[in-house]
Amino acid sequence: MKNLFNKNWGNGNDSRLSSQLMQLFESELKDIYWAEKALVKAIPKMIKNATSTELVEALTSHLDETNEQISRLELVFKVIDKKAMAEKCDAMAGLIEEAGEIMEACEEGVMCDAGIISAVQKIEHYEIATYGTLRQFAETLGLDQVESLLATTLKEEKASDQKLSKVAKKSINVKASEEMVQA
Ligand code: FE
Ligand code: FE
Ligand code: FE
Repeated sequence: MKNLFNKNWGNGNDSRLSSQLMQLFESELKDIYWAEKALVKAIPKMIKNATSTELVEALTSHLDETNEQISRLELVFKVIDKKAMAEKCDAMAGLIEEAGEIMEACEEGVMCDAGIISAVQKIEHYEIATYGTLRQFAETLGLDQVESLLATTLKEEKASDQKLSKVAKKSINVKASEEMVQA
């Protein structure tokens, strides 16, 4: 565990660690911790509503990653010597609610798949923005190990977003554009 600490950490000399930026960092960390935990509960419902095998696979593998991301965040809390705490993220709560509305309103099949992809991509973009900011904060704060943990998650979120774009472009959107709305 010891080698995870930044060399400046804990020697009391680094004033950055009691700065306002550090406070903001911690509060955003609690926010994304809440968001990831909420996603672990929300993604299975999306998997259940998805039809395309490729979409089901993409969501299933991202669910696994999301669980790892939660552990990674817990490690970040540990490294900065704070208790892992979740604070409600209103934005993620809203995005998950919207995903639910889309799934209720869509016809089963390609339309629902296209809707799920659009909802999940909005979620990924929120996560990309958050991890991008957190990673940058960590760099400024001199928290090297934390920075690299957050960069790993950021990479996963970006890859998930790109994978969903590919699944959508390849087949789902095309099929959905050919399906006629039931009169
Ligand atoms: Fe995530
Ligand atoms: Fe938030
Ligand atoms: Fe994600």
